[in-house]
Amino acid sequence: MTTSDSVDSAVELILNSNFAIAFTGAGISVESGIPPFRGKDGLWSKYDPNVLDLNNFFLFPVESWKVIKEIFYDFFGSAKPNSAHIALAELEHRKMIKAVITQNIDNLHTIAGSKEVYEFHGNSRMLVCPNCGENYVAAEVDLNEIVPLCNKCHGVLKPDFIFFGESITTLAYQKSVEAAEKADLVIIIGSTGEVTPASMIPTIAKQNGAKIIEINPERSLFTDSVTDVFLQGKATVIMEQIINELKLKV
Ligand code: NAD
Repeated sequence: MTTSDSVDSAVELILNSNFAIAFTGAGISVESGIPPFRGKDGLWSKYDPNVLDLNNFFLFPVESWKVIKEIFYDFFGSAKPNSAHIALAELEHRKMIKAVITQNIDNLHTIAGSKEVYEFHGNSRMLVCPNCGENYVAAEVDLNEIVPLCNKCHGVLKPDFIFFGESITTLAYQKSVEAAEKADLVIIIGSTGEVTPASMIPTIAKQNGAKIIEINPERSLFTDSVTDVFLQGKATVIMEQIINELKLKV
């Protein structure tokens, strides 16, 4: 199948769906300048993934915070949504998709205007004190002060996203599973499918009869297991083609 044939098939599926959802991974934010974790230019080729291991964070908070600040606050902080994030917000506004389930913690779907966003792995905009549970807006905390401490109990603050070894936030998990069970179409954008349990979301939808569109420059674990229409290419390019075919203006 050529890419343009596939875009036609994808548009057909979108127009005929009653409850479409998007499921996004790090790939949708690559063209906003945020690298994924895995792969040749991924963050783990430069940094040690252990900085996001919960036990390691508590054992070595200074070392962990230095890297966390550099990746998730100095770097992510200046990123802007790209045309793929904006296209998903427009599809929701037009009631063509019902929700975005994202593995990303960069807040770009919300900044782009998506309203129903289920952040499977939490979000970097808030910090939490694991000791007393107090929450802080990261932008209001002086992160040059390493390590940032809780004003109430002086515990070490942690970004409020899921570290390796930590369980998934119940509400985001519940809402994502509910949406996957109801969905008759899932648009997967930029995910390897290697991170569980998030990768179960398209599978749950598929088992309930949903069709699956996948957008990725590379094949993923989803491509041969659940994908019906594989659109090989960058998120912005393919989403712009879909928006054009749907004759929407963004
Ligand atoms: P991943 O890092 O495992 O894989 C990224 C995927 O994106 C790959 O399949 C790659 O081929 C694809 N990709 C690369 N460029 C693309 C483009 N321009 N358009 C579309 N797709 C593109 O990502 P993952 O499967 O989402 O899992 C990694 C975990 O890392 C996630 O749980 C996520 O929380 C976290 N993460 C988040 C961010 C972020 O918030 N932006 C960044 C890095 C990692």
